[in-house]
Amino acid sequence: MDTPVIRPAVEAPVATRSDVVVVGGGPAGLAAAVSAARQGASVTLLERYAYLGGLAAGGMVLVLDDFADGATEITVRGIAQEMVERLHALGLAVYPPPGDRILSDEMWRRWSRWGLFDLYAKGPRKSIVYAVAFDPDGWKRVSNDLVAEAGVDVRLHSWYSTPVMEGDTIRGVVCETKSGPQAVLGDVVIDASGDADVAASAGAPFVEGSYMVTTVFRLGNIDTEAAERFEHSEPAECHKVNRAARRILGGSWAQWWLKTPLPGVVWCNCPHMSGYDGLSVEDLTAADREGRQRIAGLLDYVREHYPGFENAVVIDVAPQIGVRQSRLIEGEYVVTKDDVVDRVHFADSVARGRGYYTPYRALLPQHVEQLLVAGRHYSVTSEAQKLSREIPPCMSMGEAAGTAAVEALDSGVTVRKADVAAVQRRLRREGADPGDIPSPRARPADSTLAAAS
Ligand SMILES: Cc1cc2nc3c(=O)[nH]c(=O)nc-3n(C[C@H](O)[C@H](O)[C@H](O)COP(=O)(O)OP(=O)(O)OC[C@H]3O[C@@H](n4cnc5c(N)ncnc54)[C@H](O)[C@@H]3O)c2cc1C
Repeated sequence: MDTPVIRPAVEAPVATRSDVVVVGGGPAGLAAAVSAARQGASVTLLERYAYLGGLAAGGMVLVLDDFADGATEITVRGIAQEMVERLHALGLAVYPPPGDRILSDEMWRRWSRWGLFDLYAKGPRKSIVYAVAFDPDGWKRVSNDLVAEAGVDVRLHSWYSTPVMEGDTIRGVVCETKSGPQAVLGDVVIDASGDADVAASAGAPFVEGSYMVTTVFRLGNIDTEAAERFEHSEPAECHKVNRAARRILGGSWAQWWLKTPLPGVVWCNCPHMSGYDGLSVEDLTAADREGRQRIAGLLDYVREHYPGFENAVVIDVAPQIGVRQSRLIEGEYVVTKDDVVDRVHFADSVARGRGYYTPYRALLPQHVEQLLVAGRHYSVTSEAQKLSREIPPCMSMGEAAGTAAVEALDSGVTVRKADVAAVQRRLRREGADPGDIPSPRARPADSTLAAAS
């Protein structure tokens, strides 16, 4: 084993300073930056890649789930909902109207190939719910509009590397760029990197979770009407062909292809691969290669055997491999699977997903001051994260973190001491649902947790 190389200390010029620095321009980071800027803070948003969107754009995760609890209760509002309205106005988002959100054969036929059903329902036919199929380039475009209108200073091509610490307080970050290292200073830092890059390197406790990774891709030139006709008129034959296709993919959901707002283009949330570490260069490289091989095999098969796929071409393989889970913060409170499944309501709830609530304490890392986290690396057990990391709830957390940062700055207190009731009021004013008012189906947290309000 070679001796590790010691890097010489290098000066990082201060590129800019702002009230709030957000690291990561995915769904959570976008919502955090926009909410903080709209409420009067100066905000810098740092992103390593050439676009905003994270897994929703570069990861090509193209259905927004966990927006609603059952057929009627919309649980995530605010910036996530605004994103949908803007995409819809551009013709780049599709969702079932309220009357279609039921369990019936007819609605299943109409919507199942859009993937807009209750993911957690059992059985072959699932209830249609409020979920949204969208276009990844549309997401990038609307993200750009939202940050521009809010006055967020966006710095792309900026790869976070090091925290700027003063004792246990974070004062900014250093990013690696083509021009060398650059420091960006701020009064509050929000880690929305998805992998807790900032929190972990600043010394906040975390655990390393893991889950399967996926090389998402899209196919074009598909006659989706012919493919759906085949599915409904020859179910047994279609089942056989789908089974063979899924065997080649080596890991996929039952609906391995889904329609998108672009005619003739389908989204393939597969192949899933397990055993890869989402933080390891070697594993990510190997997973990308393996995923592409499986996709090539699938293409050959469906062109020959799947009606409607005769002229299929690969339009794109997601530039970002789909890592669902890596580091998870061990914050002031760690959300459990029971909390998620039982809809446990916390007095300090600031964000919502399907039926569940996210307490402010789950966005607060331990040991590091003036740092918040938002998104899929929030403070949650590994098994609970698998049930609570969809895009809308991550945006809800981001909006809450951005709002809490401004509330703390305006009140002259640290983010750890932010007045949660005031954060909830601000979120309501901004059109979000912080979950302060429990739904009739919620279960109150035990008295010790409820005391945290
Ligand atoms: C294959 C797959 C399928 C999924 N399916 C669905 C689905 O159908 N519906 C659904 O709602 N959700 C789904 N999810 C979950 C959802 O996509 C994620 O949980 C969600 O996007 C997380 O948002 P985030 O902002 O926390 O993180 P991310 O989307 O990961 O965004 C993090 C951002 O931070 C940036 N970043 C990371 N590190 C650094 C750094 N060091 N410096 C600068 N920038 C950095 C990244 O480039 C990225 O832009 C799926 C996820 C995967 C992987």
